Amino acid sequence: MDKETRATVLKRDKLTCQACEKYPAYQVHHIKARCHGGEDNLSNLVTLCGRCHMIISPVPPFALWKAFRVQESEIPDEKRRIEKAIKRFQQTSHGLK
Ligand SMILES: [Zn+2]
Repeated sequence: MDKETRATVLKRDKLTCQACEKYPAYQVHHIKARCHGGEDNLSNLVTLCGRCHMIISPVPPFALWKAFRVQESEIPDEKRRIEKAIKRFQQTSHGLK
């Protein structure tokens, strides 16, 4: 993803995590992963905070505990919450450009 695209996404989302509303958030997530054909276009990109981004990424539970004190038993619920929020985000008009 180029710098300009990244900056556009962060600006569109007002530096706010679209899953938990944390501000400021600086990570840009590919809703559909690049390895699954997801592209660097604005409808496939969403701003997330470091915590939400890490939870929905394939990282081992001990890494989540180490970085954010997320317990392994909490991960499935958190994942569901974040994925739901991203779906909601995609249904709003600004996610469809
Ligand atoms: Zn978040």
